[in-house]
Amino acid sequence: MRIKQILQTKAEEQKISVKGWVRTNRDSKANAFIAINDGSCMSNLQVFVDKEIVTDQDVLRRAATGASIEVKGILVESPGQGQSVEVRAEEIIIIGDCPEDYPLQKKRHSNEFLREIGHLRGRTNTFGAVVRVRSAMAFAIHKFFQERGFVNLHTPIITASDAEGAGEMFQVTTLPFESFNSQNGIDYSRDFFGKKASLTVSGQLSAETYATAVGDVYTFGPTFRAENSNTTRHLAEFWMVEPEMAFCDINGDMDLAEEFLKYIISYVLENCAEDMEFFNKWVCKGILDQLRGVASADFARVTYTEAIAELEKANAKFEFPVSWGIDLASEHERYLSEEVYKRPVIVYNYPKEIKAFYMKLNEDGKTVRAMDVLAPGIGEIIGGSEREDSYETLIARIDELGLNREDYDWYLDLRKYGTVPHAGFGLGFERMIQYVTGMANIRDVIPYARTPKNCNF
Ligand code: ATP
Ligand code: MG
Ligand code: MG
Ligand code: MG
Repeated sequence: MRIKQILQTKAEEQKISVKGWVRTNRDSKANAFIAINDGSCMSNLQVFVDKEIVTDQDVLRRAATGASIEVKGILVESPGQGQSVEVRAEEIIIIGDCPEDYPLQKKRHSNEFLREIGHLRGRTNTFGAVVRVRSAMAFAIHKFFQERGFVNLHTPIITASDAEGAGEMFQVTTLPFESFNSQNGIDYSRDFFGKKASLTVSGQLSAETYATAVGDVYTFGPTFRAENSNTTRHLAEFWMVEPEMAFCDINGDMDLAEEFLKYIISYVLENCAEDMEFFNKWVCKGILDQLRGVASADFARVTYTEAIAELEKANAKFEFPVSWGIDLASEHERYLSEEVYKRPVIVYNYPKEIKAFYMKLNEDGKTVRAMDVLAPGIGEIIGGSEREDSYETLIARIDELGLNREDYDWYLDLRKYGTVPHAGFGLGFERMIQYVTGMANIRDVIPYARTPKNCNF
């Protein structure tokens, strides 16, 4: 049985066997108290050892912090506080010893230190909780869309299109590593068997092809961006959730984004209570109350123009001054959600110059039907839009931006043959994990963070 289950079991002096890693071993003359954890939950299981029953002193010495052990014994009610049951050991078996240079001897370590031992940090309370919350949230995401009849679409990882036009793509090559040092005249940018190919930055364009075939779809997969910057919210490899809905406009898109975020927050609050208590206590005080509030109240919704007017009033506070037309920086996004609206805020109708070519142009000819969801503590967590559904307008936009029409033949076909209004958005999964856990740095909400110069294994 795993510890999570054991802790929910009523103790009736039944025999049990449990396996896990030793967190602490408090050894005294007559007894020992060993706390073990198996990662199934935050709590440790207390093992009470009567040295007259477990007589092998060597085994007790080897059951040190970090060692893996099996305990056979009797499950009894716990006389101690905080836990309902404990195990009275009858036999302890050492599965794997753990020498004294085990780096997780202390109770608390800084996240910076733990990043250096990424292969072991999953054994700490914080990172155990992070991956359990990730797992629950991933499940909630699929549940939300599946319950609403969305089709889960697997979009390609290797692609030829730069959806965002931001030039942040990693190129794919079949060349051996050794050839990179030589001046051999090979065009590395065309080496996917002689063609140009990159890792996907977003599944959106491919998702549109199926949304305009089977209706509502969603992708949930890894995306890659050559973000050569060091921020607390950018990774080179991150996971994105991208729904795409046919017969849907910008309002439907914002409604879905809000319903979706509230759903996954509520799911995590309900299903990860113990881990969330931990984050509330040790990582971000008050996060539980904040999230409960977010799940039950309307988000703010304002146009970009209204948001700029609010920001201009506070221009003195910002490193980057604000005026109509700028792309919002994280300081602006955070100010809007933390200081002005004090909750998540959806900003929509952005200037077309700062958004991608595929977004639907408004009647004013200046703005597009884009929307971003900005969250306190993070800034942008979702970016979305209604897509341009007019064949002629899309061609005009492609020409205006100097893009190559032939590259988008297939994309234009979706407008040429039976076009429909459609819309979607992308949620950065790690940013959402940051938001619900209160973890300050995106490097600490993914098992292995890929950032500049950081790809050890
Ligand atoms: P930002 O302005 O923060 O760089 P973006 O506007 O470039 O984000 P989008 O192209 O709109 O990002 O992607 C959709 C979502 O994916 C974003 O709202 C964000 O949550 C997430 N995201 C984007 N880039 C990254 C990244 N490098 N690491 C982690 N998440 C990201
Ligand atoms: Mg970006
Ligand atoms: Mg952005
Ligand atoms: Mg964006």
